Amino acid sequence: MTQMPHCPACQSSYTYEDRGLYVCPECGHEWEEQVEEAPVYKDANGNLLVDGDTVTVIKDLKVKGASGAIKQGTKVKNIKLVEGDHNIDCKIDGFGAMKLKSEFVKKG
Ligand SMILES: [Zn+2]
Repeated sequence: MTQMPHCPACQSSYTYEDRGLYVCPECGHEWEEQVEEAPVYKDANGNLLVDGDTVTVIKDLKVKGASGAIKQGTKVKNIKLVEGDHNIDCKIDGFGAMKLKSEFVKKG
């Protein structure tokens, strides 16, 4: 016996399962079961990255609107991981707030 999830639309707990769908009798919402999976962010070497990590840029990265590139070897402290194509939010000295791709950095 598994516990039914609450309705994501109205938070009702009177939900039931019907042909692989969850159904909420209170608002009529139907939804598929979703396995909650936290996104995983990895650096160029496949190491797991977490918020607050320090990473090193592994190749020169051109920056739109900036005169120079972010140089290979630049250390970036206190990264914040976000969803999306550029999945690292960070601040880089001389550039300010930037978004990087995790595949172009390595941890440490
Ligand atoms: Zn509902």
